[in-house]
Amino acid sequence: MRFEELQISEPILKALKEEKYETPTPIQEQAIAHILHRKDVMGSAQTGTGKTAAFAIPIIQLLEADQKERKSSRKVKALVITPTRELAIQIGESFSTYGRHTSIKNTVIYGGVNQHGQTEALKKGVDVLVATPGRLLDLMNQGFINLKNIEYFVLDEADRMLDMGFIHDIRKIIATLPEKRQSLFFSATMPKNIVDLSRQILHKPVKVEVSPASSAAETVQHYMYYTNKSNKKNLLLHILKDQDIDQVLLFSRTKHGADRIARNLKNKRIHTAAIHGDKSQNQRQKSLQQFKEGNVRVLVATDIAARGIDIESLKYVINYDLPNVAETYVHRIGRSGRAGEEGTAISLCEPEENAYLKAIEKLIDQKIEKVNDNPFPQTERPMNAQEKKDFEKEKQRRKQEYFANRKKKSR
Ligand code: AMP
Repeated sequence: MRFEELQISEPILKALKEEKYETPTPIQEQAIAHILHRKDVMGSAQTGTGKTAAFAIPIIQLLEADQKERKSSRKVKALVITPTRELAIQIGESFSTYGRHTSIKNTVIYGGVNQHGQTEALKKGVDVLVATPGRLLDLMNQGFINLKNIEYFVLDEADRMLDMGFIHDIRKIIATLPEKRQSLFFSATMPKNIVDLSRQILHKPVKVEVSPASSAAETVQHYMYYTNKSNKKNLLLHILKDQDIDQVLLFSRTKHGADRIARNLKNKRIHTAAIHGDKSQNQRQKSLQQFKEGNVRVLVATDIAARGIDIESLKYVINYDLPNVAETYVHRIGRSGRAGEEGTAISLCEPEENAYLKAIEKLIDQKIEKVNDNPFPQTERPMNAQEKKDFEKEKQRRKQEYFANRKKKSR
């Protein structure tokens, strides 16, 4: 299928050509026509599938078409809510890119930075507002934003939004939206609480689905190094000796861990930067920019900070820690192998993480290949189920024995 067949307007087609997009991705094929027909859409799609363009393109087109009939000044008519600042910035950039030959203006608001620049942009008037929930509510409460003219509403990454505890904020925001509007709802996974939330937002939605969360980007090769916690540091240096790994996004479960890893790599003269919640927004943007420009080889990130960041042709992801929620693995590796390109996910697994690995393999429905060229293999074998049972039994027996002895002594 070609973009022309989706009835996309000329100015947008021109921008897509400039971006060298040749054909629509499956989510774009499925969603764009429905959105242009003003239907509500419930999309099951993860980042990397082209879902931003799937909603941004038709929204720009509809807004531009309506614009001609409108005489009123520029009011916020489309609202996109997304969980993280990085994602918000990228969505804003997408609207600017696809809408560059139209009159549609957007702005992005997110927390962690001074609000002045954002309120100034709002005062000038925008058609599309991309926001994270907290700052949006904040600016609404201060009277800078009014949602009563919203005609298009997008809730992006709904599952992550709930994971991050935004449910109350989202409910408050939805309560202020006009009843008559078109709503689009995107989530990588569709557990029951997400489906329930979607029911409160959507009206007779068309369901579109591409690559459910469990089918991790098929173009990604997965490799596993079995090692011990104390050896991960050296094993990482061993892996990075491979100069083919020109740039890598490395995940750490904790902020402290991320800083520690970055410090170690910097000590070995490997260009590294870390992004996580304790870094200021400016620091995070700067690191991301340096990485995109190729001046940083290793970008160390926590899951939340890295959520949705879009780095063109990123080939390598390293999981320094295995995530304890299997779906997080899928989100992580979604950073590589985007839009059909090849990607490699390398994970380091210590004995305590073996159980996480099992859950991940079950979710992605494949066994991850073990790397044998590993100078730091796992040494301790974790207990199997029977050994664990015996161990607990023995612990219990000793406890009872101890208390029995104490009782005897005290008599
Ligand atoms: P997203 O899933 O929205 O985060 O998009 C993932 C990446 O795919 C972004 O870098 C987009 O610029 C790119 N992309 C989106 N649609 C297309 C397309 N039809 N052809 C090529 N690249 C695309």
